Amino acid sequence: MKDQLKTLYIDKELSLEKVGKLLGVSPTTIYRRLKKHNIKIRNSGELNKGKPSGASGKTWKLSEKARNNHRLSLIGKKQSLRHRINQGLARRGLLAKEKNPNWRGGITKQNDIVRKSFDYRMWRNLVFERDNYTCQICGKKGGILHAHHIKPFAYYPELRFLVDNGETLCVDCHKKTNTYAGRGKIYGILT
Ligand SMILES: [Zn+2]
Repeated sequence: MKDQLKTLYIDKELSLEKVGKLLGVSPTTIYRRLKKHNIKIRNSGELNKGKPSGASGKTWKLSEKARNNHRLSLIGKKQSLRHRINQGLARRGLLAKEKNPNWRGGITKQNDIVRKSFDYRMWRNLVFERDNYTCQICGKKGGILHAHHIKPFAYYPELRFLVDNGETLCVDCHKKTNTYAGRGKIYGILT
């Protein structure tokens, strides 16, 4: 037994584990026997070699790089899956239009509102200027004034920003016009 140990461990320089395997015993047993026979042990840490590391002893530690690669591959899978789901939904018209990559209506609509709002303010100021900030019905000057569309805003879109279609009115006189009720609704979009 001692000769066998010497041959395998010293001459062939096999590890405790390999020697143990060849002799049908555990590396620990080989370790003990080597000690018993005063054979110098090359590396006592060898006993732990091959055993799982980590606090739980159940998991192999992945290198930092390996873990990162694993994480990135998971993210990649997640994103491509979401992308495919969104594509599927968009094809069936089920995706919220804002999230649909093909939807451009929001920008156009927003631009439209900004432009019309600007046009409206320009038109209103030009009407006030022309009328010298004076109500065209009662002659009151200043205070809160409205620019009233002579031909209704809602029915004559082509006349909306025509100064000739506007007149300056004080709030009281404006309230008496028959298109006043629609004012909030119509002006609400623009101002
Ligand atoms: Zn008035």
